[in-house]
Amino acid sequence: MIAKVIVDVPSSQTDRSFDYAIPEQWVDIIQEGTRVIVPFGPRKIQGFIVEITEESEFKQVKPILEVLDVIPVLTAELIRLGDWLSKQTLSFKLSAYQLMIPAALRAKVTKEIHLLTDSVHLPKIIQPLFKMENRITWGALNENKLVLKAIQEAAREGFLEIAYLVEEKGKKKTERFVRVSGNRHQLDDIPARAGKQKELLTYIEETKQPLKVTSLLEETQMTRATLTTLIKKGYVEEFEKEVYRDPLGGVEYEKTEPLQLTEKQSEAIAPILDSLNQNMHDTFLLHGVTGSGKTEVYLQAIAKALSQGREAIVLVPEISLTPQMVQRFKGRFGSQVAVFHSGLSMGEKYDEWRKIRRNEVRVVVGARSAIFAPFTNVGIIIIDEEHETSYKQEENPRYHARDVAIWRGKEHQCPVILGSATPSLESYARAIKGVYHLLPLTERVNNRAMPTVNVVDMREELRQGNRSMFSNVLLEQLKDRLTKGEQAVLFLNRRGYSTFVMCRDCGYVATCDHCDISLTYHRTQHALKCHYCGHEEKMPETCSSCGSDHIRFFGSGTQKVEEELTKVLPEARVIRMDIDTTRRKGSHEKLLSAFGRGEADILLGTQMIAKGLDFPKITLVGVLAADSMLHIPDFRSAERTFQLMEQVSGRAGRHDLAGEVIIQSYTPDHYSIELVKAHDYERFFQMEMSQRKVGVYPPYVYMVLLNISHPELTQVIHVSEKIVTFLKRELSEQTVVLGPVASPLARIKDRYRYQCMIKYRNESGLRKTLLEIQQHYIREINQGQLQISIDMQPYMF
Ligand code: ADP
Ligand code: ZN
Ligand code: ZN
Repeated sequence: MIAKVIVDVPSSQTDRSFDYAIPEQWVDIIQEGTRVIVPFGPRKIQGFIVEITEESEFKQVKPILEVLDVIPVLTAELIRLGDWLSKQTLSFKLSAYQLMIPAALRAKVTKEIHLLTDSVHLPKIIQPLFKMENRITWGALNENKLVLKAIQEAAREGFLEIAYLVEEKGKKKTERFVRVSGNRHQLDDIPARAGKQKELLTYIEETKQPLKVTSLLEETQMTRATLTTLIKKGYVEEFEKEVYRDPLGGVEYEKTEPLQLTEKQSEAIAPILDSLNQNMHDTFLLHGVTGSGKTEVYLQAIAKALSQGREAIVLVPEISLTPQMVQRFKGRFGSQVAVFHSGLSMGEKYDEWRKIRRNEVRVVVGARSAIFAPFTNVGIIIIDEEHETSYKQEENPRYHARDVAIWRGKEHQCPVILGSATPSLESYARAIKGVYHLLPLTERVNNRAMPTVNVVDMREELRQGNRSMFSNVLLEQLKDRLTKGEQAVLFLNRRGYSTFVMCRDCGYVATCDHCDISLTYHRTQHALKCHYCGHEEKMPETCSSCGSDHIRFFGSGTQKVEEELTKVLPEARVIRMDIDTTRRKGSHEKLLSAFGRGEADILLGTQMIAKGLDFPKITLVGVLAADSMLHIPDFRSAERTFQLMEQVSGRAGRHDLAGEVIIQSYTPDHYSIELVKAHDYERFFQMEMSQRKVGVYPPYVYMVLLNISHPELTQVIHVSEKIVTFLKRELSEQTVVLGPVASPLARIKDRYRYQCMIKYRNESGLRKTLLEIQQHYIREINQGQLQISIDMQPYMF
């Protein structure tokens, strides 16, 4: 038997499967989706089996050296998905597969077998292995067919597990457990005066299951010494057992019951339930204003899928994966829920993944990569805030979670729900064309009013002599909330803003020596840092260009706002949330819950506070500089501005108290800001679509972005020009090739960057043409000088 293996050598020559012979004892046991170690040239490397066949077209086939899994890490579906994904994104198959498994499994490790139960449950043939120990190394095993089969069977039942990670610290967590050692009549052996021992042993016996030592001693109020005596006498045995790390720090979730749906919610959920009942795929766009009760719709649709014995995948943007959000799912579905987010340690992620693989959970809530959850019977896929850019991965493979969701939805014949108050233009256009099924939820639950929005013209403020960063009306309203004991949120858009250092005399701006970007001033270290390469230098005392000492930092970071705020409102208690205050694990949650408990009056922050906040006392939202994002040279900047403004205003007045929003802007008449006043998404959609039509941008065309970089500027220009000439020659006439031009960030880490763009409607040979370019430059690329990255669906420019 032959295994076709994708090997762990990321290069275009090796981006295909290689044939290896399956060792005799593994024939009929090993499955597709298993990781193996194979010889490759002089090296031994890891790989994924993607196919098992009878024969190879090659005469000489080397054997697999080692099998790493008895239960495959990739399901048959994921193997196909990886293949599709690599084609879609023009990336290596290997990187597509690596994307789907937890990082912990990518590391080099030794293999052990861990017993997870009493050995009596195991198939007879392997029982003796675990007589003395509850973990053995793989090497201690006689790798014969019957043994391997028995191991696989027991692993499927969850009685034992192949563990790879024992040598890596922190990847698995174990605790001490005890259980009775199996001798009968031991109670009678204990002398009557040793009452405590008798009592403890009885307790352990009656529980029948292994008991965690710490909880046992706590529950029984016995001493460790008593337990140790029982162990010494051989009545009880102590062992180590793996426990799952709890990424939520042992928080107990309050159980919630399904709410009686409003009429609107019932209308929206009906077609989803139909799709579930008929076991049919459909993509729904749930367009619901903030506070319209989308989450309750998700929850009840999920409940339906679970009742059919199927599973659910829920994607939420990384920054809204707050305990509040998790509570809503855990509260309804309890321990059936696994949670994935980037704040988890490698080990925690591995644990959550294994819960899915072992069928211990049926709902996964997570950020982008949770879309690859290895469920085998998916009943529903939900993408909340579907317009969020974080669903697009900005490194290889450059995939969009929405595309993967729809692929899997078709595969499982199940509904996919895209939810948003401000859908991406692409999705809304598809919904209008009938490609997606549009489900509108136009009102807030319980007839709560949408917040009133007041746009302040900051140019006018300036004319009136107000030079501060707060308009008069915002300041007044903040004071008003302070006296009423209500809360306010102040939002500062981080993009487009930075605290750069400039010379007031000559205009010199401190930039990074390796990247063409201004350095950011960091107050705490009084230093300048590059946010691209990490380069750090001391804050200069004089201008390095003209020598003047009038050099100082500019811009309006959150720290600066906080300082201003304490000057104008000294009595206000402020919590600041930005990358600096939330760097430590868990600090994000700590700050939010402190705000929730009313320990501050004002929450000041960046993008990370725009979503998911749901506190009853927030009645005022202030946006300090609405248009900072409008001027970024990106065709989506108006869309992003509108989305963000709507999102932020959605934080106000979600409960009984009415909400008010104050947006400060230098371009108050721009439709992306103007239309937030009326919360008029449809109108915005139309305005923006006509802009896109004129500019020939998506969704009217598809785009591809090629990024070419090289340490030498002349090389980069030379190659880019050749590529553009080639593309113009190869592609059809209707297709537009733009560039080459220097990238917005023209140099990063000492590499010069150029880009070109392709706009097309129909171009069947496009992928082939792009691959040819990479092939053509393969030597230069492999030498590590030239890089050509291709983004088939660029999101950030
Ligand atoms: P969205 O996700 O659309 O912004 P939410 O799901 O957060 O809206 O709902 C807003 C509020 O309305 C929440 O406090 C939620 O508990 C409440 N809610 C949702 N559906 C109902 C319902 N059918 N009956 C009563 N309250 C509801
Ligand atoms: Zn740099
Ligand atoms: Zn100067």
